[in-house]
Amino acid sequence: MTFFCPTCWKEIKGIDTICPFCGADISEYANKDFEEKLINALRHRERETVQRAVYILGRRKSIKAVHPLLKLFKQTDNTLLKIGILNALNEIGVPEAKEFIFKVIDSDTGIVKRMAREIIDRESINHAE
Ligand SMILES: [Zn+2]
Repeated sequence: MTFFCPTCWKEIKGIDTICPFCGADISEYANKDFEEKLINALRHRERETVQRAVYILGRRKSIKAVHPLLKLFKQTDNTLLKIGILNALNEIGVPEAKEFIFKVIDSDTGIVKRMAREIIDRESINHAE
C-alpha cells in the first residue's frame, strides 16, 4: 500500500506520523476517510493538486473515484489532465473504467485519442508477456 501526505500529497511511509516533506501531522488523518479527501481534491482550484489527486486515486485503484473521474474528464478541456485521468482509470481497471477508455478512442480526437489508444495497446502487450 502506498501512502501519501494529505496536505502536500507527496509519497510517504505508512509508519510516518509527521510528513517528512511539509511537517503535517498525519496521525490525525489515520481515522478519517483518506479516499474521500482525495476525491474532494479533484475539485481543488489548483490544477497541480487535481493532477496529483488523479494520479494517487489511480495508484490506490480507487473504485469510488471512477464516477468523479469520468465527470472531471467530461468537464475539463485540459489535455494533460484528461491523459492523467485515462491512466488512472486504466490502473483502477474496473470494466466501467476500461469501457470509458475505449469510448474515448472512438469519440475523442488528437492527442487524447492517441493516448487512450496507447494505454490500451500497452495493456495488451503486458498481458501477452
Ligand atoms: Zn506533506
